[in-house]
Amino acid sequence: MTVRDAALVVVAAGDGERLGADRPKALVEVAGVSMIRRVVATALQAGIASIVVVHHPAHHDDFEAALAGLTVAALVPGGVTRSASVRAGLAAALAAARRPAVVGVHDAARCLVTSALFAEVFAAVAGEVIAAAPGLPVSDTLKVADESGAVAGTQDRGGLWAVHTPQVIAATTWQAILAWGEGGEEATDDLALVERARDAGVLAGTIRLVRSEDAALKVTWPHDVEVAAAVLHHRERRGSDGEVA
Ligand code: C5P
Repeated sequence: MTVRDAALVVVAAGDGERLGADRPKALVEVAGVSMIRRVVATALQAGIASIVVVHHPAHHDDFEAALAGLTVAALVPGGVTRSASVRAGLAAALAAARRPAVVGVHDAARCLVTSALFAEVFAAVAGEVIAAAPGLPVSDTLKVADESGAVAGTQDRGGLWAVHTPQVIAATTWQAILAWGEGGEEATDDLALVERARDAGVLAGTIRLVRSEDAALKVTWPHDVEVAAAVLHHRERRGSDGEVA
């Protein structure tokens, strides 16, 4: 699929408690630009036809201000969980007059995403491939341990990937999941919904991971804001993608 047939739901309704900010995480600035503005500007730069932002309803005006001058199809209130926010955004994306062929979901907190990565993941959903997301093979050693840190053993990391967003799913696949009715389960990962439906025989197709950029950081802790800003400065010096005014 090309980005011209695509819609993107940017989930930005989290309160960012772990970040310790005085506003929703998506409104926190990284190198002088809010995360939500960075992500929406980058998605527009990638040529994605329609963008739905799921925001924190108590901060509607702040989100409007943060998105000033950027074309957004809808600004919809989020839910208590990420899954609820995804469902709200998805409903708006699928109801658009110009029906999208694919709908991606992206975490606003992954503000280092580039237009090239958006284009690559959306392009991966075609033919047999009904869903795709960026990821990286796990490079750390994985231990199994209890809460106290007592180690029970070492996990083989072969075949294990860490998965990021955007998670892009064909519109017909989203509709099959919604019609199945089990898609409402909580999931931090949208591809998991497709996997469950496929395992239950509700649909068929390939789910593909696209090798992600190394710097696919999700801003979660206060320190991450500094790291993300450092990555952006490094990119600017290299003159690469992902710069937002
Ligand atoms: O909290 P965490 O970083 O895992 O959230 C991932 C993304 O989901 C963030 O961009 C956050 O704004 C969004 N989210 C949401 N609605 C919630 C919880 C999280 O849109 N209720």
